[in-house]
Amino acid sequence: MAVTDHVDLNTFVEGVRKRNPGQPEFVQAVQEVAEDIFDFMQDKEKYHKAQILRRIAEPDRVISFRVCWEDDKGNIRVQRAWRVQNNNAIGPYKGGLRFHPSVTESVLKFLAFEQTFKNALTGLPMGGGKGGSNFNPKGKSDNEVMRFCQSLMTELYRHIGADVDVPAGDIGVGGREIGYMFGQYKRLTNVFEGVLTGKGLEYGGSLIRTEATGYGATYFLQNMLKTQGKDIAGHTVVISGSGNVATHAAEKCTQLGGKVLTLSDSEGFIYDPAGMTQEKIDWVKELKNKRRGRISEYAKEFKGSEFHAGKTPWGVKCDLALPCATQNELLGPDADTLLNNGCIAVSEGANMPTNLEGVHKFKAANILYAPGKAANAGGVAVSGLEMSQNSARISWKEEELQRLLQDIMSGIHERCAEYGGKPGTKVIDYVRGANIAGFKKVADAMLAYGIT
Ligand code: NDP
Repeated sequence: MAVTDHVDLNTFVEGVRKRNPGQPEFVQAVQEVAEDIFDFMQDKEKYHKAQILRRIAEPDRVISFRVCWEDDKGNIRVQRAWRVQNNNAIGPYKGGLRFHPSVTESVLKFLAFEQTFKNALTGLPMGGGKGGSNFNPKGKSDNEVMRFCQSLMTELYRHIGADVDVPAGDIGVGGREIGYMFGQYKRLTNVFEGVLTGKGLEYGGSLIRTEATGYGATYFLQNMLKTQGKDIAGHTVVISGSGNVATHAAEKCTQLGGKVLTLSDSEGFIYDPAGMTQEKIDWVKELKNKRRGRISEYAKEFKGSEFHAGKTPWGVKCDLALPCATQNELLGPDADTLLNNGCIAVSEGANMPTNLEGVHKFKAANILYAPGKAANAGGVAVSGLEMSQNSARISWKEEELQRLLQDIMSGIHERCAEYGGKPGTKVIDYVRGANIAGFKKVADAMLAYGIT
């Protein structure tokens, strides 16, 4: 028996903490997964012996580099960027790039770790990676963003490739940034290949990629509600964020008859007691994508709505909640408030938006609670379909992709239910189900490769 076999959960987590000093987000993500995997592995010697969880929690590599660019005033700016290639046991590394001042190596390592399980859950052949920079695109001109993206790609291009590592968008990285980065990759390599996803439709992008994460999180919510004979129609919905994921979750919830009451950004949230309409959501999309404005402007535009500065929306009474902004935006006391207000289901559009205390509260209350790695996998799933279309040099029709997205989300729901059912009850622990189903697929592939 190997020396570190069968250490207990606490020893394992403490080891992770020691080896990754100053990386709380990464340790938090590993701990959440380890809580379930340790239980699952209890009678499975092969995973222990091969140290599989320890290996997944140690990225294959972390590439860290400097990005220099010149702003419009001629000042030289220096940023830090990373690509974390966590695990490619089941396919090329795949995961977004985030541009936000809060980006650190810890944040990207947590995201790449989560992505490994999420990608496995989709059933598609994709490994886990993530990258980004502490660059803040807010307030920058298009030319500044272009110069930054080109400079970043001038280093990143040597580490990625259609069969190696395929980045996509995330916070602060949308169609504009992907366009600049893809253009630079093509220029440096003289190769036109599906090296990034989330591309424009004119140059290899897939229909519904933009909508996929928010729509997918809503389909997952629908699947969970169905297990209790319920539906989104007629229920009130609270959503955080006002970016890509939040606006498309709001759109799908509204289409399915839900009443969306809130959206937010880092400055506060808006509450619209009348509920959102497609027209209002289109206005927000235009505000965020074209004018690059703030959500507070919603309250000036739509009568009867209010802006609450510096607050998150979890205090608004609702049936359903979709956190779609960022990590650790929903804390233990917020979970209490939602539960006390009668919330019956939470579907995470963002990655790890609920902290560990909140997760434990949702689990203990036995509400329908879907972790990001299951609920927001629709985005990467359609990215996987974009890769297939690029390889085959074809474009699928919208109806086909919509059907595939719904099928993939139902498949993820089934896999979570298979491993997350609480014996003797009808309750499904989606966190446990997602962790185990994702782990098993990656772990079995790693076992096949021997010690690597
Ligand atoms: P966007 O950049 O489009 O939007 C992000 C939103 O979250 C903005 O409203 C932003 O407000 C808010 N936000 C960001 N950071 C903070 C913060 N520290 N505190 C409060 N609000 C914050 O990003 P996406 O919609 O693409 O991503 C949202 C979440 O979904 C992230 O967790 C991302 O990892 C996850 N995700 C995204 C996928 C995708 O396909 N895009 C796929 C899977 C997961 P502000 O403008 O004020 O910063």
